[in-house]
Amino acid sequence: MAATSLNAPNAPLLQKTHQTHVFLKPISTIPCQTSAKRFCISCSATTQDRLSVQSQSQDRVFNFAAGPATLPENVLLKAQSELYNWHGSGMSVMEMSHRGKDFRSIIEKAEADLRSLLNIPENYAVLFLQGGATTQFAAVPLNLCAPGDSVDYLVTGSWGDKAFKEAKKYCNPKVIWSGKSENYVRVPSFDGLELNPNAKYLHICANETIYGVEFKDYPVPCNPNGVLVADMSSNFCSKPVDVTKFGLIYAGAQKNVGPSGVCIVIVRKDLLGNAQEITPVMLNYKIHADNNSLYNTPPCYGIYMCGLVFEDLLKQGGLEEVEKKNHKKAGILYNAIDESKGFYRCPVEKSVRSMMNVPFTLEKSELEAEFLKEAEKEKMVQLKGHRSVGGMRASIYNAMPLAGVEKLVAFMKDFQAKHA
Ligand code: PMP
Repeated sequence: MAATSLNAPNAPLLQKTHQTHVFLKPISTIPCQTSAKRFCISCSATTQDRLSVQSQSQDRVFNFAAGPATLPENVLLKAQSELYNWHGSGMSVMEMSHRGKDFRSIIEKAEADLRSLLNIPENYAVLFLQGGATTQFAAVPLNLCAPGDSVDYLVTGSWGDKAFKEAKKYCNPKVIWSGKSENYVRVPSFDGLELNPNAKYLHICANETIYGVEFKDYPVPCNPNGVLVADMSSNFCSKPVDVTKFGLIYAGAQKNVGPSGVCIVIVRKDLLGNAQEITPVMLNYKIHADNNSLYNTPPCYGIYMCGLVFEDLLKQGGLEEVEKKNHKKAGILYNAIDESKGFYRCPVEKSVRSMMNVPFTLEKSELEAEFLKEAEKEKMVQLKGHRSVGGMRASIYNAMPLAGVEKLVAFMKDFQAKHA
């Protein structure tokens, strides 16, 4: 491409060359990037991809948000390169019919890749739904039990508590253990749990995003027909999981595997087909399973993005490799906190500290605002703790590079040296 075409003051937004469509942005329209890099996206050029990688890395921040969260840079760049014309189809994934063969190939591949990542057996359905994990708080009881049925909830944080409160509308749930009085810092010993032998299911939140409490092992429901249900929104695909231990797993995509708008449900097929009569069509798992998540228009672009992430996780070597990386990242951050002689503090019991969400407070809480401001200057953003707990929280999902955590740790040490 001729450099002059980029330099023209009113360069056309879209230029069709004999080979490919090229999107050109006049420099004046580039949103305030200090380096004012021009970017051009070609549908096919690999050289352009390389150029994009360079500018992208410099312009991006380390985003420690709890969700929506950072996505793998190479996935974003691939989506960027395919945005305008997906695989020569002449249209964007956003413009495709969800019933056409192109989109079908996208959703089928996404499902197949997720199945191989998590080793999901054939007797489990994989659903790509909408409405976030919050919708599943209602869909789970509506699908798995009758109105008067007993169910157990083990509450290790506010998401589990919300799930319990929603279930009250549709069945007879009981909190068999809650960490609320201790401010959610641990998971109970499973031995002492008073599980209801008649409970249809036992619900846990595998990783409490706000408090940073993560199950490292899972309880077993005592009713032989009871099933374990897990909200895995914030640690989905962060490590291998034995799916057969669960009757149902659900996870909002916007932390580890994609953008918001997609919620994944993995459910044992024999549990389908008993939804309560009042269950809205959109919350009925059997209807979605029978229609391969295409009963109505699904969140097509989000599913496509999840598919790119699954492909990327497989390329990294699968979830064993991903877990090793996550373990390393979490290790250096928790070490920095524990070795700070109390300057930083993480209240969560060591054995159940989350690999994904690391909450910590500053001994001198009056320094918190400055900590956040200084971190932001260094391009590390979204470190403020959830409004209900305060302090800091670094969410270090799969897509957070080791370099991001190393930079945060170096910053924390430096900040401590200045303020201790
Ligand atoms: N469960 C957990 C563990 C979460 O972290 C969240 C969102 N932060 C939710 C449920 C609710 O998800 P959504 O906003 O997608 O409904």
